[in-house]
Amino acid sequence: MIHGYMGKILRVNLSEGVIREEDLNQEWLKYFLGGAGLATRYLIEEVPAGIDALGPENKLIFMTGMLTGTASASASRYSVVAKSPLTGILGTANSGGNFGPQLKKSGFDGIIFEGISPEPVYLEIINGKARLHDALHLWGKTIPETEGLLQNEVKQQMTIAAIGPAGENLVRYAAIMNNKHRAAGRCGLGAVMGSKRVKAIACAGKKPIRLANEDGFRQAAKRQFDLLDESMLKVGFDAFGTNMVADMVNVRGGYPTRNWQQGVFGRIEEVNAEAMTDKVLIEGVSCFACPVACGRKTEIREGKWSGNSGEGPEYETTDTFGAMCDVSDLNAITQANYLCNTLGIDTISAGASIAFAMECFERGALDKKQTGGIEINFGDANLVVDLVEKIAYRQSIGDLLAEGTRLMAQRIGKGSEHYAMNVKGLELPAYDPRAAKICGLGYVTANRGGDHITGYVQGPTFIDMPFLIIDDSSIGDPWVANPQEAHVLVDLENALSLLDAIGACKFMGILLTAEDIVSLISTASGADFQVRDFRLIGDRIYNLQRLFCVREGINREHDRLPNRLMEDPLPDGPAAGMLVERESLEAMKDAYYQMRGWDMITGIPTPEKLHALGLDDLIETI
Ligand code: SF4
Repeated sequence: MIHGYMGKILRVNLSEGVIREEDLNQEWLKYFLGGAGLATRYLIEEVPAGIDALGPENKLIFMTGMLTGTASASASRYSVVAKSPLTGILGTANSGGNFGPQLKKSGFDGIIFEGISPEPVYLEIINGKARLHDALHLWGKTIPETEGLLQNEVKQQMTIAAIGPAGENLVRYAAIMNNKHRAAGRCGLGAVMGSKRVKAIACAGKKPIRLANEDGFRQAAKRQFDLLDESMLKVGFDAFGTNMVADMVNVRGGYPTRNWQQGVFGRIEEVNAEAMTDKVLIEGVSCFACPVACGRKTEIREGKWSGNSGEGPEYETTDTFGAMCDVSDLNAITQANYLCNTLGIDTISAGASIAFAMECFERGALDKKQTGGIEINFGDANLVVDLVEKIAYRQSIGDLLAEGTRLMAQRIGKGSEHYAMNVKGLELPAYDPRAAKICGLGYVTANRGGDHITGYVQGPTFIDMPFLIIDDSSIGDPWVANPQEAHVLVDLENALSLLDAIGACKFMGILLTAEDIVSLISTASGADFQVRDFRLIGDRIYNLQRLFCVREGINREHDRLPNRLMEDPLPDGPAAGMLVERESLEAMKDAYYQMRGWDMITGIPTPEKLHALGLDDLIETI
């Protein structure tokens, strides 16, 4: 038994309907620990470059972290990894709730799905026994319907991860949902699951996770719970959820509004954290073993959706269905979020795709003939809700919206690429880098495309939140592009990759130090794990993931922002007149590549760097 792990993964060949158990690759485990890092190592080994992300050669890998399911703070997370149908590069997504812990306690650290099933199936795992079942009766069902039917069928309390109609219909940003409301949301991995005709995974189990030094681990975990319990982070998140940052971003002029045409939303008080508390909040919700309750259990109390309840919206969702679409009706935003959870859709890409269509319509790049007779106007709250459903079923204009902004712009043409707000095909989240330049660098270097949580440099810039997980997260003036500050991003990307690998929530990086995490890993594994190992493994994972993207053709030239951010100055607010200037972005990239040990001209890891990380066997990839 390897301490901290179950020691086994399931390999499910869907084309043949065969399930095999495999021992975890011990060498890779030491190198990548678990989660997205370990899953990427399997992916890069087993999936050739250039394949169709929705074809039989792609593999869909679920992987828990080293500490997932243990009693350490926020040890709730699992990762899903595949080639993304939205971006064509590495697709990774991560989710909390309690699916990860239950998967592990059912007996397995992870699952590799390969091939394509001839008919819909679901995978049941109970205490080390796995079986594939027919899921024809579940196909077409929503997430809550699937949960209900499966719970009845299996006659035992199961924890379920499933896709909804969006995944079945290959919406390029379909999510995998667990515990009904928690999403492995980004990069369209729900569509990969749909392409393989896997409707759900249902698991249950009570297998113990053995640790090398149970007492030492308990003490280390308790110290962290005590620290978190007394923190302002907990107070703020418990009271307001992630939307507590809305006012802070808006006041800095970086709150994307009307598809990023503006950076200040004039009706912020209708959608900010106070408004949520007044209008829809029931209570905060925690993931497994988390002392923080940043999730929002909500209900709509008035209007046409009155009586509906669920979870959300989070900060990003409030902006993408709200200000980005010029909508301030919090009930409509909440309903759009409920529909995404019910149908299995990533809220960021959905809201961003709708906002993009609104601008195309406003500029005449889309007309009513193309939209099925619908006027897609900014500010139409009911329309936003209607479009979410159309996206899931690819009805009418929903078929185009389901492709995401990059493919939409290619099909619409007429210069719309200028304001298609994605990086490498992944729709940008709700922080405008024109108002905090280092965030632009974060978008272009994130391995899965335009993403905030890969390095979350937004924390120390937009919301003055230092990250104790690295030695120095200070950013001087966010409006100034300072290449020397690229080290903050590099350090954060590495440290947060490590948190992913152990199955911890990245928000823990705000309060916990590398030493705190090291004490957990050491006591769990029995190995003499040091801070330098923490840093090295994070760096190794980051380079491995870049290699996957390089294999798909990514280089320096693709590390670029949408033209709007580099050519259209913000028109109003405190950051009025600001851009991310091309030259300053290139200077930040130079510094970043140098700090990473990547080739300055190509942006590709050098053989020397890969050798230093112990990735010699992958040098031929470049
Ligand atoms: S901080 Fe929030 S998202 Fe992270 S584990 Fe805790 S409840 Fe879940």
